[in-house]
Amino acid sequence: MFSPPDLSPEAFDRVRDLVRRHWDELHDLSIAPTVDPRRLRLQLRERFDFEQPVGALELVNDVASMLRETGLQSTHRRYFGLFNPPALPVTTLADALVAGFNPQLAVWAHSPAAHLIEQHTLEFLRARIGMPEGTAAHFTSGGQEANATAMAAALGAAFPRVPDEGVRALPGAPVLYVSEQGHHSFQKVARQSGLGESAVRTVAVDERFRMAPEALRAAIVQDRRSGRLPFLAVGTAGTTGTGAIDPLPEIASVCRQEELWFHVDAAWGGTALLSPGLAPALDGIERADSVTWDAHKWLSVPVGAGMSFVRRPESLARMFHVDTGYVPPPSGELPAEPYVGTAQWSRRFIGLKLFMALAWLGADGYRALVDSMAATGERLRERLVDAGWELVNETPLPLVCTRRPEMGPDAVADIARRLQEGGRVWVSSVALPDGGAAIRACITSYATTDADLRVLVEELEAAAR
Ligand SMILES: *Cc1c(COP(=O)(O)O)cnc(C)c1O
Repeated sequence: MFSPPDLSPEAFDRVRDLVRRHWDELHDLSIAPTVDPRRLRLQLRERFDFEQPVGALELVNDVASMLRETGLQSTHRRYFGLFNPPALPVTTLADALVAGFNPQLAVWAHSPAAHLIEQHTLEFLRARIGMPEGTAAHFTSGGQEANATAMAAALGAAFPRVPDEGVRALPGAPVLYVSEQGHHSFQKVARQSGLGESAVRTVAVDERFRMAPEALRAAIVQDRRSGRLPFLAVGTAGTTGTGAIDPLPEIASVCRQEELWFHVDAAWGGTALLSPGLAPALDGIERADSVTWDAHKWLSVPVGAGMSFVRRPESLARMFHVDTGYVPPPSGELPAEPYVGTAQWSRRFIGLKLFMALAWLGADGYRALVDSMAATGERLRERLVDAGWELVNETPLPLVCTRRPEMGPDAVADIARRLQEGGRVWVSSVALPDGGAAIRACITSYATTDADLRVLVEELEAAAR
């Protein structure tokens, strides 16, 4: 038998104290890192040669200070950046419980409670999407895995020989469609899956950066004429660059007529479904064959937690089913084993943090979180317009793209860089389809206040001068 060193109870208490202190002091910290990663690398080599064991308390202190001083503080109230929210406090308890109990979710029998908690949670969200009962739903590492899952399911459904023989069995090249503002995970997934990046057709957008359904239809017709095999179209509900919501009902209709799989990538925007006021903006999502929705984005739980919803479970089994001689067969009434219906094998209890957040806030609490962030986005638009800034995107979601009328891409990039370096606020710049660029400010923290908006506009004004 091997006995690791005792963990002093103090080490647990220290984790709690350091995390709480970080939460209390975070908003007074600079958002930009204060320690150079190169210095940190040297420090790591010196302090941890892995020859001399280090006590747990010391480890906890060291790691906390590295995280505090070296990273971008993306959970800060004035981080108006990519979709990286602060985690709701109760979700930290969830991740601690998961690590402590360490259930294995590859098979039902090893952790029925964990599975039932996940399925109960996903069932609530499935109903919000409006997909039918019997839809397969599971947690993923994030949106990219959920998009890869949808692509695999769509490919197997369109071409039944592919799971066995691969795409070389096909008489032409399979192609999929995503708007030119869609997420680049599709390019990665297309390369990894062997389809190649040229399988991803980017469809033109309208003046509000939404996929143009006529352009989608025209591209499908053109590709068919050239002997290619269209099989999947993606509508994005909340694009990363500008928060645009593609016209989902129109894309659904094109997919139905052209017999394509309809996937909705709602990694960030899906959370709008929890607000009765915003949900209609996503109408048409209920017609999807599959949906991607991330928990670690607007639902504000720690990374990595995505969700995949697939209307016909058999399309997953076709791609992911295997027979082993070593996993015990499922017993009795239990549904299909997770590892034969999903991309992962051993899997962490990803869903607990969302279950606990939902139970803790209640559906009304989440509605209030979503509505208040959308309202904060509206107030940011008002402040910018009052200060003479132009709004270049239009979306009900709290993502604002802005510039001064005279600003070219270089000036925009320069402003974003200066704000990032200043450490008081964090925004990025985004390239627009017309060749221009804009400052991109997304409300990612539920804690962002009007005072924070004032600081943002002040900083923008100072940088533009
Ligand atoms: C973030 C995002 C993804 C990728 O999700 P990850 O969770 O980062 O893997 C895909 N699509 C959209 C629209 C996103 O916003």
